Amino acid sequence: MSYPLLRIHLDAIRQNGKEIIRRCKENGIDAWAVSKGISAFKEIAQAYKEAGFKVICDSRLLNIHGMQHSVEGLQYALIRIPMRSEIKEAIETSDYTLVSDLGTIKNMSDLCHKLGKKHKIILMFDMGDLREGFLHSDVDDIAKCVVNLHGELEVAGIGVNFSCASGVLPMPENIDEFIQIHKELKEKTGLELPIVSGGSSCSYVQLCRGELNHSVNSLRIGEALLLGRDMAFDVDIPGLNQSTMEIEAELVELREKPSKPHGKIGHDAFGHVPSFEDKGLRLRGILSIGKQDVQIEGLTPLQDGVTIVTASSDHMIVDLTDCPDKYKVGDILTFLPNYVAMLAASTSPYVTKVFENN
Ligand SMILES: *Cc1c(COP(=O)(O)O)cnc(C)c1O
Repeated sequence: MSYPLLRIHLDAIRQNGKEIIRRCKENGIDAWAVSKGISAFKEIAQAYKEAGFKVICDSRLLNIHGMQHSVEGLQYALIRIPMRSEIKEAIETSDYTLVSDLGTIKNMSDLCHKLGKKHKIILMFDMGDLREGFLHSDVDDIAKCVVNLHGELEVAGIGVNFSCASGVLPMPENIDEFIQIHKELKEKTGLELPIVSGGSSCSYVQLCRGELNHSVNSLRIGEALLLGRDMAFDVDIPGLNQSTMEIEAELVELREKPSKPHGKIGHDAFGHVPSFEDKGLRLRGILSIGKQDVQIEGLTPLQDGVTIVTASSDHMIVDLTDCPDKYKVGDILTFLPNYVAMLAASTSPYVTKVFENN
């Protein structure tokens, strides 16, 4: 086995998927699975399909291409608002695209007409998080635009995103206003706009708490599915499995060293001036994993007594003084990744990916 590695338990992800689909269905919600947090490996797409998802969402066309070629019978949504330079590919590759620009929508409409290709768009609205999305005050302009589109491009509904750029949570007030926008847009356009996509994993948390407006009928879920958690509310989600994957790294040095560096302190490898508390002599281990492989702050050690001290590009230093177990060079330590650590590890070519069915 080549380390460091990311070990992924597909069965746990499938179980999370089934539970999410069950709860969503119970509430009249169609759950879409998001694959971008884990680089859309074909094994993940296959697990999503086996869990029962019909639509997979990703931010990258490259990821969607890959899944399409290896897993049959699924629909795909491009959930990063498209670059003008990728519109054609988006129309040819995906079934849905999330959009927030009228010029882009017109271009898509013209292109769909020219290519004779059907495509669906979801109009994104910003409800305070200030990432992508039209504003409530744009409704009139949007209505004027979308009633003049070519028939090949269908406006399938509206969507909203929370807690991405600014940490704004889905609460009854902003979701209610989002539902109000849906009403107004329906009235002004005469369109059905069947999809009301009310957010991501944080909206799923609100669904579990009974706090999600009943008019929401679709969610796009990544973190809850992959990690059983939601970062926005900072919660483990009840009913979901949090032991879905681990990162493993190998010890290459183990030695008692002072905890406080000696010598004049300049900048570290990343331009920061570090400061360390003097705890006397400590048993320090070096693991062959670093910032090229993972986001260090996003790791939780799974073995007792292990604490992370610091890391550079290729080395991570851990304090093993308080471990009940005695480790030696060559031993493997295991860590639970959060979303950002998962993202980094899955993207790094230096991290081996191991898929297991348990
Ligand atoms: C990433 C993303 C999601 C999924 O978010 P999670 O917090 O992982 O559930 C949903 N919608 C959009 C537009 C996204 O970019």
